[in-house]
Amino acid sequence: MKRSGAPLKETLLSAQAGDESSYRRQRFCLDMYHRALIGPVFYVLSYILVLVVSGYYERCPRFVPLPMLAFLFLWWLRYQHRPLAMSASVSAYRTWFIHQWALVLLGATLWGLIAATVPFFERKPDTAVLVSLIATIAMGTAASQVFCMHPVPSRICMLALLLPTMLVCALPMVGLLSISITLAVYSLYLLVNLQKYAEEYQAQIDLEIELINSRAELARRSMMDGLTGLQNRLSYEQVWPQAWRGAVRQREALALLVFDLDHFKAINDEYGHLVGDACLRHFAQLLQAQARRDSDFIARIGGEEFIMMLPATAVEAAQSIAEQLRLNLAATPCRLDALHINMTVSIGVGVVNCLQDTDPEMTFDRVDHACYLAKSAGRNCVVLA
Ligand code: GH3
Ligand code: MG
Ligand code: MG
Repeated sequence: MKRSGAPLKETLLSAQAGDESSYRRQRFCLDMYHRALIGPVFYVLSYILVLVVSGYYERCPRFVPLPMLAFLFLWWLRYQHRPLAMSASVSAYRTWFIHQWALVLLGATLWGLIAATVPFFERKPDTAVLVSLIATIAMGTAASQVFCMHPVPSRICMLALLLPTMLVCALPMVGLLSISITLAVYSLYLLVNLQKYAEEYQAQIDLEIELINSRAELARRSMMDGLTGLQNRLSYEQVWPQAWRGAVRQREALALLVFDLDHFKAINDEYGHLVGDACLRHFAQLLQAQARRDSDFIARIGGEEFIMMLPATAVEAAQSIAEQLRLNLAATPCRLDALHINMTVSIGVGVVNCLQDTDPEMTFDRVDHACYLAKSAGRNCVVLA
Protein backbone atom coordinates (compact mmCIF):
# COMPACT_ATOMS: atom_id res chain seq x y z
CA MET A 1 0.00 0.00 0.00
CA LYS A 2 1.43 3.40 -0.99
CA ARG A 3 2.09 5.71 1.95
CA SER A 4 2.72 9.43 1.88
CA GLY A 5 3.88 11.94 4.43
CA ALA A 6 3.33 14.96 2.18
CA PRO A 7 2.44 18.12 4.08
CA LEU A 8 -0.84 19.80 3.18
CA LYS A 9 0.65 22.61 1.10
CA GLU A 10 2.62 20.14 -1.00
CA THR A 11 -0.51 18.07 -1.54
CA LEU A 12 -2.34 21.17 -2.69
CA LEU A 13 0.44 22.16 -5.09
CA SER A 14 0.94 18.71 -6.55
CA ALA A 15 -2.75 17.93 -6.99
CA GLN A 16 -3.97 17.62 -10.55
CA ALA A 17 -7.21 19.05 -11.89
CA GLY A 18 -10.01 16.53 -12.44
CA ASP A 19 -8.83 14.48 -9.49
CA GLU A 20 -11.26 15.94 -7.01
CA SER A 21 -12.39 12.91 -5.01
CA SER A 22 -8.86 11.59 -4.52
CA TYR A 23 -7.70 15.06 -3.46
CA ARG A 24 -10.58 15.24 -0.96
CA ARG A 25 -9.77 11.76 0.41
CA GLN A 26 -6.09 12.53 0.87
CA ARG A 27 -6.83 15.90 2.42
CA PHE A 28 -9.09 14.20 5.02
CA CYS A 29 -6.46 11.54 5.57
CA LEU A 30 -3.58 13.99 6.12
CA ASP A 31 -5.69 16.18 8.42
CA MET A 32 -6.83 13.20 10.46
CA TYR A 33 -3.29 11.87 10.72
CA HIS A 34 -1.65 15.11 11.88
CA ARG A 35 -4.48 16.18 14.15
CA ALA A 36 -4.75 12.76 15.83
CA LEU A 37 -1.08 12.88 16.77
CA ILE A 38 -1.68 15.77 19.18
CA GLY A 39 -4.42 14.06 21.26
CA PRO A 40 -2.34 11.50 23.21
CA VAL A 41 0.16 14.22 24.19
CA PHE A 42 -2.64 16.19 25.87
CA TYR A 43 -4.06 13.02 27.44
CA VAL A 44 -0.68 12.34 29.06
CA LEU A 45 -0.21 15.95 30.23
CA SER A 46 -3.73 16.19 31.65
CA TYR A 47 -3.34 12.81 33.32
CA ILE A 48 -0.11 13.91 35.04
CA LEU A 49 -1.80 17.13 36.18
CA VAL A 50 -4.74 15.24 37.67
CA LEU A 51 -2.35 12.84 39.43
CA VAL A 52 -0.38 15.70 40.93
CA VAL A 53 -3.34 17.70 42.25
CA SER A 54 -5.36 14.68 43.45
CA GLY A 55 -2.51 12.85 45.19
CA TYR A 56 -3.59 9.54 43.54
CA TYR A 57 0.03 8.86 42.82
CA GLU A 58 0.77 8.23 46.51
CA ARG A 59 -2.45 6.27 47.02
CA CYS A 60 -2.04 3.68 44.27
CA PRO A 61 1.44 4.01 42.70
CA ARG A 62 1.26 0.63 40.93
CA PHE A 63 -1.81 1.46 38.88
CA VAL A 64 -0.74 5.00 38.01
CA PRO A 65 1.77 4.30 35.14
CA LEU A 66 -0.62 2.00 33.22
CA PRO A 67 -2.89 4.68 31.60
CA MET A 68 0.19 6.78 30.85
CA LEU A 69 1.82 3.85 29.04
CA ALA A 70 -1.47 3.21 27.23
CA PHE A 71 -1.59 6.82 25.98
CA LEU A 72 2.05 6.69 24.87
CA PHE A 73 1.42 3.38 23.09
CA LEU A 74 -1.63 4.94 21.43
CA TRP A 75 0.49 7.86 20.26
CA TRP A 76 2.97 5.40 18.73
CA LEU A 77 0.17 3.47 16.99
CA ARG A 78 -1.25 6.68 15.55
CA TYR A 79 2.20 7.76 14.42
CA GLN A 80 2.77 4.41 12.71
CA HIS A 81 -0.54 4.56 10.89
CA ARG A 82 0.94 6.68 8.09
CA PRO A 83 -1.25 8.58 5.62
CA LEU A 84 -1.91 7.03 2.20
CA ALA A 85 -0.74 8.46 -1.12
CA MET A 86 -3.30 10.14 -3.37
CA SER A 87 -3.12 7.22 -5.80
CA ALA A 88 -4.33 4.68 -3.18
CA SER A 89 -7.65 2.94 -3.93
CA VAL A 90 -11.01 3.93 -2.44
CA SER A 91 -11.15 0.68 -0.44
CA ALA A 92 -7.61 1.24 0.91
CA TYR A 93 -8.72 4.67 2.11
CA ARG A 94 -11.89 3.23 3.67
CA THR A 95 -9.82 0.71 5.65
CA TRP A 96 -7.38 3.46 6.64
CA PHE A 97 -10.17 5.68 7.99
CA ILE A 98 -11.77 2.80 9.95
CA HIS A 99 -8.40 1.99 11.51
CA GLN A 100 -7.72 5.66 12.29
CA TRP A 101 -11.14 6.21 13.83
CA ALA A 102 -10.67 3.08 15.98
CA LEU A 103 -7.46 4.64 17.35
CA VAL A 104 -9.11 8.03 17.92
CA LEU A 105 -12.16 6.53 19.66
CA LEU A 106 -9.97 4.26 21.79
CA GLY A 107 -8.06 7.29 23.14
CA ALA A 108 -11.27 9.26 23.72
CA THR A 109 -12.94 6.37 25.57
CA LEU A 110 -9.87 5.79 27.72
CA TRP A 111 -9.66 9.45 28.72
CA GLY A 112 -13.44 9.65 29.20
CA LEU A 113 -13.32 6.73 31.67
CA ILE A 114 -10.24 8.01 33.51
CA ALA A 115 -11.74 11.50 33.84
CA ALA A 116 -14.98 10.02 35.21
CA THR A 117 -13.14 8.26 38.04
CA VAL A 118 -12.04 11.63 39.48
CA PRO A 119 -15.52 12.94 40.52
CA PHE A 120 -16.42 9.34 41.43
CA PHE A 121 -13.64 9.20 44.03
CA GLU A 122 -13.62 12.87 45.09
CA ARG A 123 -17.40 13.49 45.36
CA LYS A 124 -16.87 17.21 45.80
CA PRO A 125 -15.93 19.94 43.29
CA ASP A 126 -12.29 20.14 44.40
CA THR A 127 -9.16 21.04 42.40
CA ALA A 128 -8.71 17.51 40.97
CA VAL A 129 -12.33 17.46 39.69
CA LEU A 130 -11.89 20.94 38.29
CA VAL A 131 -8.65 20.04 36.45
CA SER A 132 -10.11 16.84 35.01
CA LEU A 133 -13.31 18.70 33.98
CA ILE A 134 -11.41 21.50 32.24
CA ALA A 135 -9.21 18.98 30.40
CA THR A 136 -12.23 16.89 29.35
CA ILE A 137 -14.19 19.91 28.14
CA ALA A 138 -11.15 21.16 26.21
CA MET A 139 -10.65 17.76 24.57
CA GLY A 140 -14.36 17.42 23.72
CA THR A 141 -14.31 20.89 22.14
CA ALA A 142 -11.14 20.08 20.19
CA ALA A 143 -12.55 16.74 18.99
CA SER A 144 -15.70 18.42 17.69
CA GLN A 145 -13.55 20.76 15.58
CA VAL A 146 -10.50 18.85 14.41
CA PHE A 147 -12.27 15.67 13.25
CA CYS A 148 -15.29 17.40 11.70
CA MET A 149 -14.46 15.91 8.26
CA HIS A 150 -16.49 12.87 9.45
CA PRO A 151 -19.30 14.37 11.56
CA VAL A 152 -20.87 11.12 12.86
CA PRO A 153 -17.76 9.46 14.36
CA SER A 154 -16.66 12.91 15.47
CA ARG A 155 -19.84 13.23 17.56
CA ILE A 156 -19.29 9.74 19.00
CA CYS A 157 -15.72 10.75 19.92
CA MET A 158 -16.96 13.87 21.65
CA LEU A 159 -19.53 11.91 23.64
CA ALA A 160 -16.93 9.25 24.55
CA LEU A 161 -14.97 12.05 26.19
CA LEU A 162 -17.79 13.89 27.96
CA LEU A 163 -20.51 11.32 28.65
CA PRO A 164 -18.77 9.21 31.36
CA THR A 165 -18.06 12.30 33.55
CA MET A 166 -21.60 13.57 32.88
CA LEU A 167 -23.16 10.26 34.01
CA VAL A 168 -20.90 9.84 37.04
CA CYS A 169 -21.62 13.39 38.23
CA ALA A 170 -25.36 12.69 37.92
CA LEU A 171 -25.16 9.68 40.27
CA PRO A 172 -26.95 10.45 43.59
CA MET A 173 -24.01 8.98 45.55
CA VAL A 174 -21.62 11.46 43.82
CA GLY A 175 -23.96 14.43 44.12
CA LEU A 176 -22.55 16.73 41.41
CA LEU A 177 -25.78 17.06 39.41
CA SER A 178 -25.26 20.74 38.54
CA ILE A 179 -21.91 19.87 36.89
CA SER A 180 -23.61 17.03 35.01
CA ILE A 181 -26.34 19.36 33.71
CA THR A 182 -23.78 21.98 32.67
CA LEU A 183 -21.84 19.28 30.80
CA ALA A 184 -25.03 18.08 29.11
CA VAL A 185 -25.91 21.59 27.92
CA TYR A 186 -22.38 22.17 26.66
CA SER A 187 -22.33 18.79 24.86
CA LEU A 188 -25.58 19.71 23.14
CA TYR A 189 -24.05 22.99 22.01
CA LEU A 190 -20.99 21.14 20.63
CA LEU A 191 -23.16 18.57 18.83
CA VAL A 192 -25.09 21.35 17.08
CA ASN A 193 -21.97 23.41 16.36
CA LEU A 194 -20.14 20.46 14.84
CA GLN A 195 -22.35 20.71 11.75
CA LYS A 196 -21.15 24.27 11.24
CA TYR A 197 -17.49 23.22 11.54
CA ALA A 198 -18.10 20.37 9.08
CA GLU A 199 -19.65 22.77 6.55
CA GLU A 200 -16.81 25.27 6.94
CA TYR A 201 -14.25 22.49 6.49
CA GLN A 202 -15.97 21.23 3.32
CA ALA A 203 -16.21 24.80 2.00
CA GLN A 204 -12.48 25.27 2.49
CA ILE A 205 -11.71 22.09 0.57
CA ASP A 206 -14.15 23.09 -2.20
CA LEU A 207 -12.20 26.34 -2.47
CA GLU A 208 -8.89 24.48 -2.66
CA ILE A 209 -10.28 22.27 -5.45
CA GLU A 210 -11.42 25.37 -7.32
CA LEU A 211 -7.92 26.77 -6.93
CA ILE A 212 -6.35 23.56 -8.27
CA ASN A 213 -8.68 23.56 -11.28
CA SER A 214 -8.18 27.22 -12.12
CA ARG A 215 -4.40 26.89 -11.72
CA ALA A 216 -4.44 23.91 -14.12
CA GLU A 217 -6.59 25.86 -16.59
CA LEU A 218 -4.21 28.82 -16.42
CA ALA A 219 -1.20 26.55 -16.97
CA ARG A 220 -2.97 24.92 -19.94
CA ARG A 221 -3.79 28.29 -21.49
CA SER A 222 -0.29 29.65 -20.98
CA MET A 223 1.00 26.72 -23.05
CA MET A 224 -1.54 27.14 -25.85
CA ASP A 225 -1.47 29.25 -28.99
CA GLY A 226 -4.70 31.22 -29.00
CA LEU A 227 -4.94 31.48 -32.78
CA THR A 228 -4.46 27.86 -33.86
CA GLY A 229 -5.17 25.90 -30.67
CA LEU A 230 -1.77 24.21 -30.99
CA GLN A 231 0.90 24.31 -28.29
CA ASN A 232 2.92 27.55 -28.23
CA ARG A 233 6.60 28.40 -28.08
CA LEU A 234 6.68 28.27 -24.25
CA SER A 235 5.34 24.73 -24.35
CA TYR A 236 7.87 23.78 -27.05
CA GLU A 237 10.68 25.18 -24.88
CA GLN A 238 9.63 22.84 -22.08
CA VAL A 239 8.80 19.74 -24.09
CA TRP A 240 11.64 19.67 -26.61
CA PRO A 241 14.62 19.65 -24.18
CA GLN A 242 12.91 17.01 -22.05
CA ALA A 243 12.16 14.77 -25.02
CA TRP A 244 15.67 15.36 -26.38
CA ARG A 245 17.32 14.25 -23.12
CA GLY A 246 14.99 11.24 -22.87
CA ALA A 247 15.87 10.18 -26.42
CA VAL A 248 19.61 10.54 -25.79
CA ARG A 249 19.36 8.59 -22.53
CA GLN A 250 17.26 5.77 -24.01
CA ARG A 251 19.14 5.87 -27.34
CA GLU A 252 15.81 6.24 -29.12
CA ALA A 253 15.11 7.96 -32.43
CA LEU A 254 13.50 11.38 -32.10
CA ALA A 255 12.56 13.34 -35.21
CA LEU A 256 12.04 17.08 -35.50
CA LEU A 257 10.34 18.87 -38.40
CA VAL A 258 10.56 22.66 -38.79
CA PHE A 259 7.97 24.33 -41.07
CA ASP A 260 7.96 27.84 -42.48
CA LEU A 261 5.08 28.90 -44.72
CA ASP A 262 6.24 30.32 -48.03
CA HIS A 263 5.68 33.97 -48.93
CA PHE A 264 3.20 34.36 -46.12
CA LYS A 265 3.70 38.09 -46.00
CA ALA A 266 2.31 38.26 -49.53
CA ILE A 267 -0.91 36.51 -48.40
CA ASN A 268 -1.32 39.06 -45.62
CA ASP A 269 -0.60 41.93 -48.00
CA GLU A 270 -3.02 40.70 -50.64
CA TYR A 271 -5.97 39.47 -48.53
CA GLY A 272 -5.47 41.10 -45.14
CA HIS A 273 -4.47 39.88 -41.71
CA LEU A 274 -7.73 38.05 -40.90
CA VAL A 275 -7.43 35.90 -43.99
CA GLY A 276 -3.78 35.31 -43.07
CA ASP A 277 -4.98 34.09 -39.65
CA ALA A 278 -7.43 31.70 -41.28
CA CYS A 279 -4.58 30.33 -43.42
CA LEU A 280 -2.52 29.70 -40.29
CA ARG A 281 -5.45 27.80 -38.76
CA HIS A 282 -5.87 25.82 -41.95
CA PHE A 283 -2.24 24.72 -41.87
CA ALA A 284 -2.49 23.88 -38.15
CA GLN A 285 -5.43 21.55 -38.93
CA LEU A 286 -3.39 19.75 -41.59
CA LEU A 287 -0.58 19.27 -39.08
CA GLN A 288 -2.97 17.93 -36.47
CA ALA A 289 -4.47 15.49 -38.93
CA GLN A 290 -1.00 14.16 -39.68
CA ALA A 291 0.19 13.75 -36.06
CA ARG A 292 -1.89 10.77 -34.99
CA ARG A 293 -0.04 9.42 -31.93
CA ASP A 294 -0.52 10.88 -28.44
CA SER A 295 3.23 11.30 -28.13
CA ASP A 296 3.49 13.42 -31.32
CA PHE A 297 3.85 17.08 -30.47
CA ILE A 298 3.04 20.10 -32.65
CA ALA A 299 3.62 23.73 -31.78
CA ARG A 300 3.46 27.14 -33.41
CA ILE A 301 6.78 28.62 -32.40
CA GLY A 302 6.63 31.87 -34.42
CA GLY A 303 4.34 33.87 -36.71
CA GLU A 304 4.17 31.35 -39.59
CA GLU A 305 6.68 28.87 -38.18
CA PHE A 306 5.69 25.52 -36.75
CA ILE A 307 7.44 22.42 -35.43
CA MET A 308 6.46 18.79 -35.19
CA MET A 309 8.21 16.42 -32.82
CA LEU A 310 7.86 12.71 -33.54
CA PRO A 311 9.23 10.32 -30.88
CA ALA A 312 10.49 6.88 -31.94
CA THR A 313 10.57 7.97 -35.58
CA ALA A 314 13.55 7.38 -37.88
CA VAL A 315 14.65 9.98 -40.41
CA GLU A 316 13.12 8.15 -43.43
CA ALA A 317 9.68 8.01 -41.78
CA ALA A 318 9.96 11.65 -40.73
CA GLN A 319 10.94 12.67 -44.25
CA SER A 320 7.98 10.81 -45.70
CA ILE A 321 5.59 12.52 -43.23
CA ALA A 322 7.08 15.92 -44.17
CA GLU A 323 6.67 15.15 -47.87
CA GLN A 324 3.02 14.09 -47.34
CA LEU A 325 2.33 17.30 -45.47
CA ARG A 326 3.97 19.42 -48.14
CA LEU A 327 1.91 17.75 -50.90
CA ASN A 328 -1.23 17.90 -48.78
CA LEU A 329 -0.91 21.66 -48.24
CA ALA A 330 -0.13 22.33 -51.89
CA ALA A 331 -3.22 20.31 -52.89
CA THR A 332 -5.56 21.78 -50.24
CA PRO A 333 -6.04 25.52 -50.55
CA CYS A 334 -7.48 27.44 -47.64
CA ARG A 335 -11.14 28.03 -48.59
CA LEU A 336 -12.93 31.11 -47.33
CA ASP A 337 -16.25 31.61 -49.10
CA ALA A 338 -15.28 32.32 -52.69
CA LEU A 339 -11.60 32.69 -51.87
CA HIS A 340 -9.26 29.77 -52.44
CA ILE A 341 -5.80 30.61 -51.17
CA ASN A 342 -3.00 28.38 -52.28
CA MET A 343 -0.14 27.92 -49.89
CA THR A 344 3.15 26.06 -49.84
CA VAL A 345 5.58 25.26 -47.06
CA SER A 346 9.32 24.74 -46.72
CA ILE A 347 10.34 21.98 -44.33
CA GLY A 348 13.54 21.01 -42.54
CA VAL A 349 13.72 17.43 -41.19
CA GLY A 350 16.22 15.90 -38.81
CA VAL A 351 16.69 13.39 -36.00
CA VAL A 352 18.61 13.69 -32.76
CA ASN A 353 22.19 12.67 -33.39
CA CYS A 354 24.10 11.95 -30.16
CA LEU A 355 27.48 12.19 -31.90
CA GLN A 356 26.79 15.54 -33.51
CA ASP A 357 24.47 17.37 -31.09
CA THR A 358 25.61 18.33 -27.62
CA ASP A 359 22.29 19.91 -26.57
CA PRO A 360 18.66 20.27 -27.74
CA GLU A 361 19.34 23.71 -29.25
CA MET A 362 22.00 22.25 -31.50
CA THR A 363 19.57 19.73 -33.01
CA PHE A 364 16.98 22.46 -33.47
CA ASP A 365 19.54 24.75 -35.15
CA ARG A 366 20.51 21.99 -37.61
CA VAL A 367 16.89 21.32 -38.57
CA ASP A 368 16.06 25.03 -38.71
CA HIS A 369 19.04 25.53 -41.01
CA ALA A 370 17.70 22.72 -43.23
CA CYS A 371 14.42 24.66 -43.44
CA TYR A 372 16.39 27.75 -44.44
CA LEU A 373 18.15 25.67 -47.14
CA ALA A 374 14.69 24.59 -48.39
CA LYS A 375 13.87 28.29 -48.81
CA SER A 376 17.10 28.87 -50.73
CA ALA A 377 16.37 25.81 -52.88
CA GLY A 378 13.23 27.52 -54.19
CA ARG A 379 10.72 26.80 -51.37
CA ASN A 380 7.91 24.16 -51.30
CA CYS A 381 10.38 21.36 -50.60
CA VAL A 382 11.79 19.16 -47.84
CA VAL A 383 15.49 19.26 -46.89
CA LEU A 384 17.21 16.80 -44.54
CA ALA A 385 19.41 18.18 -41.79
P1 GH3 B 1 9.40 33.23 -46.70
O1 GH3 B 1 8.89 32.45 -47.82
O2 GH3 B 1 10.83 33.66 -46.92
O3 GH3 B 1 9.21 32.59 -45.42
O4 GH3 B 1 8.56 34.58 -46.69
P2 GH3 B 1 7.49 35.02 -45.65
O5 GH3 B 1 6.73 36.16 -46.21
O6 GH3 B 1 6.66 33.86 -45.22
O7 GH3 B 1 8.37 35.41 -44.41
P3 GH3 B 1 8.51 36.74 -43.62
O8 GH3 B 1 9.32 36.39 -42.41
O9 GH3 B 1 9.01 37.83 -44.50
O10 GH3 B 1 7.04 37.11 -43.18
C1 GH3 B 1 6.32 36.39 -42.26
C2 GH3 B 1 4.97 37.03 -42.19
O11 GH3 B 1 4.11 36.33 -41.31
C3 GH3 B 1 5.04 38.47 -41.70
C4 GH3 B 1 3.91 38.59 -40.72
O12 GH3 B 1 3.03 39.64 -41.06
C5 GH3 B 1 3.17 37.28 -40.86
N1 GH3 B 1 2.62 36.90 -39.59
C6 GH3 B 1 3.28 36.60 -38.45
N2 GH3 B 1 2.42 36.27 -37.48
C7 GH3 B 1 1.17 36.37 -38.00
C8 GH3 B 1 -0.14 36.16 -37.49
O13 GH3 B 1 -0.34 35.80 -36.32
N3 GH3 B 1 -1.18 36.36 -38.33
C9 GH3 B 1 -0.99 36.75 -39.61
N4 GH3 B 1 -2.05 36.92 -40.37
N5 GH3 B 1 0.23 36.96 -40.11
C10 GH3 B 1 1.30 36.77 -39.34
MG1 MG C 1 9.37 32.83 -41.08
MG1 MG D 1 7.65 32.27 -44.22
